[in-house]
Amino acid sequence: MRVWSKELTFSTRRHREVLDITDEVLDAVRESGIKNGILLVQLPHATAALVLNENESGLIQDLLDKLEDFAPMRGGYYHDRIDDNAHAHLKSAFIGSSRVLPVINGRVVRGTWQNFLVIEQDGPRTRRLVILVMGE
Ligand code: ZN
Repeated sequence: MRVWSKELTFSTRRHREVLDITDEVLDAVRESGIKNGILLVQLPHATAALVLNENESGLIQDLLDKLEDFAPMRGGYYHDRIDDNAHAHLKSAFIGSSRVLPVINGRVVRGTWQNFLVIEQDGPRTRRLVILVMGE
C-alpha cells in the first residue's frame, strides 16, 4: 500500500464565498497514480468548511443564506470578545473541514452533484488544502 499526499494553497477573495476545488482534487488523485484506496481531503482551518454538493449558483446562495440564519455575523458570541469571527468558527465546527471518499478503479466515488466545495466564512485570506490518497 502506498500513501501519497499533496498540499495546495489558494486565495479566497470575499469575506464569505464558496469555491469549487473539484478539478484540483481530481487532478491530485490522478497524479497520485493510486487506483484503489481512500481519498482524504482536509482543509486545515477553523473558520472554513468543506462540503460535497452541487455547484449551482442558486444553491450556493441558499447555502450562504442558511449559514447566516444558523450563525449570523455579530451574533453576540463569547469568542467575539477576543476576535471577530465566532460565526465562522461555528459554521466550520458544525459542518466540518474534511471529507473521506473511496477511490475505485481510478475514480473518486461521488454523486453527479457532489462537487468539492470550500465554504469560506472569514476571508479574504490564503487557505491551505491537504489531499492524501492511500491505496494501491
Ligand atoms: Zn477566531
